[in-house]
Amino acid sequence: MDMNTITIIGMGLIGSSLARRIREVGFFDKVIAVDNSLDVCKKVEELAIADEVTHKLEESVKDADMVMLSVPVGVIGKVAQRVIPYMKKDSVLTDAGSVKAAVIEAVKPFCRPGIHFVPGHPIAGTEFSGPESGLSELFEGRWCILTPMPDVSARAIEQVTRLWESCGSRVDIMDVKHHDLVLGITSHLPHLIAYTIVGTANDLADDIKSEVIKYSASGFRDFTRIAASDPTMWRDVFLNNKEAVLEILQRFNEDLTAMQRAIRKEDGEYLYQYFGKTRAIRKAIVDIGQA
Ligand code: NAP
Repeated sequence: MDMNTITIIGMGLIGSSLARRIREVGFFDKVIAVDNSLDVCKKVEELAIADEVTHKLEESVKDADMVMLSVPVGVIGKVAQRVIPYMKKDSVLTDAGSVKAAVIEAVKPFCRPGIHFVPGHPIAGTEFSGPESGLSELFEGRWCILTPMPDVSARAIEQVTRLWESCGSRVDIMDVKHHDLVLGITSHLPHLIAYTIVGTANDLADDIKSEVIKYSASGFRDFTRIAASDPTMWRDVFLNNKEAVLEILQRFNEDLTAMQRAIRKEDGEYLYQYFGKTRAIRKAIVDIGQA
C-alpha cells in the first residue's frame, strides 16, 4: 500500500493541524484539502497548507491513498456515504471524531470490500476552531486512540498508526465502547460541567455577573476557556455519546450529593480525604507529561 496522497475532509482545527504537520514532515507527497465552506477553502488557500483545495467531495478522494474525515461527528456518516463509492481500491478511510461507536455505526453501512476503515481519535485540541487555529505541533506528545473493527487489515491499522506517529503522537488501540466511556469521563463530562457553570453564571443578575467576570481568575476563568469550545462539535459529541455521558453523569450526581451532605454536616474529614485523592490525580497527570 503506497501512501502518496491524503485527502483531508473538514479543514477546521484538526484537519488544518494535520495538513500543516503532514506538509512539514512529508508523510504524504500530496495533501488535498476539502471543506464544504467556500470561505474555509479560500482561507486554506491563503494559508498555503495544502497542495490542492476543493469543496468537491466526490472528486477529491479519487486518487487518495488515505481519506481523513475531520468533520463534526454528526456529519461523518453522511460524508462517508458520499465519498466511499469514489475511493480507489485498497485505500484507507479514517476519521478524527471524538465519539467512536456512533461514528462506526454511521459509516459501516457504506463500507465496501477494498476500503479499509480505521476509526481514530486524536486526544488533542484547543477551544478554537477553523483553519486559522490549526497548529502543526497540536498532536505532539499526545495520544491518538484507534478503534479498528476486528476484520480490518493490519496493514491499514499500521498506516494510520504511522500517520499519527509522524505527527508526534503515541497510538493506542482500544475497544470502541471502552473508548466512549473513558472519553466520557476525561473529556465529555468536563465540557458539560464547564458549559453548565458558565451558563449558570450567565443567568445570574447583571450586578453579580459583572463581578463574576471581574474576579474570574479565582477558578471560573479555566471553565470559560473550555466552555468557549465549538458549539457544533460539542452538540454532536453529546448527542452521539448519549449512553456513556448519561451513565457518567449519574455517577457524578451521586458524588455531588455526597459532597453536599458532607458540607451540610460539616464533615471536614470527608472533604479533606476527597480533595487529597483528587490532588493525587493531578500529580499523576503532571508526572506522565500530559498536563
Ligand atoms: P472545526 O474546527 O469546526 O472544523 C470542522 C470543519 O468541517 C469546518 O470547516 C466545517 O465547515 C467542515 N464541515 C462541516 N460539515 C462538512 C461537510 N459535510 N463536508 C465538508 N466539510 C464539512 O472542527 P474540529 O475541531 O477540527 O473537529 C473536527 C473533528 O475532530 C470532529 O469530529 C471532532 O469531534 C474531532 N476532534 C476535535 C477536537 C477538538 O478539540 N476540537 C479534538 C479531537 C477530535 P463549516 O464550519 O462551514 O460547517
